[in-house]
Amino acid sequence: MKQASSHTIYNNTSNLGNIARNVSAPCPAQAAQEATSQAIGAAKEEEQRRQRLFRWALQAEARYILPHERVAECLRVVNPIALGVEVLHTPRQQAAHYKSLIVCGSVWMCPLCAAKISERRRSEELEPAIKRHIDGGGAVYLETYTVSHSRFDDLAVLLRLFLEARRRMRQGRQAQKRKWAFGIVGTISVLEVTWSPLNAWHPHKHELVFTTKHAGSMSAKTYATQARADWEQAAAQQGLHMDAHGYKFDRTYGAVADYIAKYGREPLKPPWGVEAELTKGHLKQGRGPVEHVTPFGLLAHIYQGEEELAPLFQAYARWFKGHKQLSWSKGLRKRLLGNEQEKTDEELANEQQEDAVLLGRLSRAQWRVVLANDARGELLEVARSGDWEQVQAFLTDIGCSAELGDVHTVA
Ligand SMILES: [Zn+2]
Repeated sequence: MKQASSHTIYNNTSNLGNIARNVSAPCPAQAAQEATSQAIGAAKEEEQRRQRLFRWALQAEARYILPHERVAECLRVVNPIALGVEVLHTPRQQAAHYKSLIVCGSVWMCPLCAAKISERRRSEELEPAIKRHIDGGGAVYLETYTVSHSRFDDLAVLLRLFLEARRRMRQGRQAQKRKWAFGIVGTISVLEVTWSPLNAWHPHKHELVFTTKHAGSMSAKTYATQARADWEQAAAQQGLHMDAHGYKFDRTYGAVADYIAKYGREPLKPPWGVEAELTKGHLKQGRGPVEHVTPFGLLAHIYQGEEELAPLFQAYARWFKGHKQLSWSKGLRKRLLGNEQEKTDEELANEQQEDAVLLGRLSRAQWRVVLANDARGELLEVARSGDWEQVQAFLTDIGCSAELGDVHTVA
């Protein structure tokens, strides 16, 4: 980690930008276009800011629902050997983070850790693996397995049956033959669940299928037809049913790229404001009466006051705890990334940006005031400026008197 040298460089750069614009004096059409794109940029930035703050709010909610899990301490409890809470700044991204706090590393329960872990899994594992495979002449397909709504109230029972069906199908003779005929060298699978008031839990499994073009003789169409029939049978043996959507096979690289691009970037819609109401109305009218929510979507509903949904999030957390987010078939990771050893969720959640600089340090007393004000997210928003004086002003605003001090300014 480097020491902060000059956050004022950024202010100077933006001043230069203003001067340059004044000198070049664009024509009215250009100016209007520029104003529009600036307004769009500002609206996008504001939306991202709301999303970041909402993650903090949801994580605080998870703490109330799961008081005995590590998420309850995550980014709250100061590391016992630390002097205080360090605030780091990444000038390149204009981002700010905390250091010297306990981090839970739960991709299932903690919206803050989940965002970071998924981002790293995508950029350091999924994207390089797919690129390496395609560069080497291979192909990647996306399969989705699910079952039709079965109104199971018990998530653990439903997942046991669902995973057993998938396991039996994969180990069956037909699947083994198909694997060879289609030239499959491995898969990466992701298990997800959604929930809706009408249909309760809904599990689905996405599998990235890696094939070598020359090994197999079976066409993608034949593969998909056989796999669909096989899945229907395997699900039925476990007492589950599938409809037309129960098996999906995407052949285009676009579908794979789209899935990877969205991986772990679930938009969390803050449920307040006119905009949220409009969106809800649209869902009700346009896509039927049932809203399917992801587990963090469920958390958002609980945060909004639907506390009766809390046992559902607890059941989900209990089942998923300790499970891996991505499952690589044996040997694929070594083949594409050169190693079998993957970083744990906790390791990824604790990693810092290499170019992060120390902006300043909060005393333990100051941190207690930040926690009491529920201001962890807001403080980081202020720190994105890279200006420690602004952070100090914010601390004064929320009631940190100078005596709580021990503020350490580096720049
Ligand atoms: Zn966490």
